[in-house]
Amino acid sequence: MKHTAPGHMFHSGVLVDDILFDIGEKHFLDRQPRAIFLTHFHADHAFFTDEPVPPLPAPAYAPQPWREHPEIKVIRSMEEVDGITVTAVPTNHSANFRSCGYIIEDGISRIMYTGDLISVQKRFRDRIPDLDLVVTDGAFIRQGGLVRRNSEGRIHGHTGIPDLVRFFSPLSQRIVFTHFGSWFFKDITESEKQIEALSGDALVEAAFDGMVIEL
Ligand SMILES: [Zn+2]
Ligand SMILES: [Zn+2]
Repeated sequence: MKHTAPGHMFHSGVLVDDILFDIGEKHFLDRQPRAIFLTHFHADHAFFTDEPVPPLPAPAYAPQPWREHPEIKVIRSMEEVDGITVTAVPTNHSANFRSCGYIIEDGISRIMYTGDLISVQKRFRDRIPDLDLVVTDGAFIRQGGLVRRNSEGRIHGHTGIPDLVRFFSPLSQRIVFTHFGSWFFKDITESEKQIEALSGDALVEAAFDGMVIEL
């Protein structure tokens, strides 16, 4: 999916305390992250799967190895980077690639970045602690999103925003959606309102490029 609109043109990437989560755009590396965590190897989250580039310039972790980049380590359940704890939470998303979200804790606040997902894998669902913020998948506004099954019977796709609000509302006081699908760009102001209208127990918002959240 490639969509452009002012303020919404970049592929996925979130910087938390100088740790980069996903590299959908090569120029995210200009921020000189001290570590890189990848949710999965789709090119809109890992640009280097599409083009040859030198080894990544910081310690990098992903849910599986990538042949062209042997420097990327397979994430164990938990990694520590300069006092920040990053915990992998396996998700369902792709038929071909493993995927995971990450919980990031610095001792003061706790954030989760999910990447693309149909769902958090079942046995990890009740292991998610209370969160201050979730940054998650805005691919579909409709209930259920779009989940398909390939010829081998494996599911792939994205769940819907309402489903994610229901899942994360009891866990997080704030939910920010990013990675929007084509629905979002038909009328951006209206789409942002539609997302905000899902606020209830949690504050629900739409992200934009360069958005900065202080916790
Ligand atoms: Zn994906
Ligand atoms: Zn994606």
